[in-house]
Amino acid sequence: MINIVLFGPPGSGKGTQAQNLIEKFNLKQVSTGDLFRFNMKNDTELGKLAKSYIDKGELVPDQVTTDMLIDELRKPTDTNGFIFDGYPRTVAQTEALERIVKEELNDKIDICLSLIVDDQILVERLLKRGETSGRTDDSNEEIIQNRIKEYYAKTAEVAELYKQQGKYIEVNGVGGIDEISEKLFAEVEKIK
Ligand code: ADP
Repeated sequence: MINIVLFGPPGSGKGTQAQNLIEKFNLKQVSTGDLFRFNMKNDTELGKLAKSYIDKGELVPDQVTTDMLIDELRKPTDTNGFIFDGYPRTVAQTEALERIVKEELNDKIDICLSLIVDDQILVERLLKRGETSGRTDDSNEEIIQNRIKEYYAKTAEVAELYKQQGKYIEVNGVGGIDEISEKLFAEVEKIK
């Protein structure tokens, strides 16, 4: 199995690149953002709770997010591996992920692929996405700025942990979608 953490700030293109990676390597994507949005759309208790954080551009608490991730990994699948998109976003989640992947899949995280994009471009991309996505967290610059702030306060240090483990690879996230995908594919090929 190949287990990939796709990392980067909001708007760096994780969702788009995850799609290309799953097709190329037959992986399953686990996106905590998508899982929250599914719950919000269906107005579940988890969805209501998540919405109270997401609409402010804050992170949902670790425990809630991690429990949701465990449920997702327990679903049967015949995948070649997983792409984690939007998780981990804190140091506690990084440690939880290592433990969960070991316990649930008897496996490990192989690589953390990090998409690098300037803040100014992130804001532009997110506002543009907000015009069509219907995502309330993309429609307002203040919320977007708060998400980027959360990223630097809580998420950026996740990169340090993967660096220490020798699993951290940075890829320029600005350019053509396919061009970026090719760079990511090349990194995955190296560890296959
Ligand atoms: P983006 O990549 O554009 O930031 P996501 O779709 O990954 O968006 O996440 C949307 C929102 O869902 C985040 O701003 C956050 O509030 C919440 N969220 C997603 N993943 C996590 C996580 N691992 N921990 C806490 N909150 C999360």
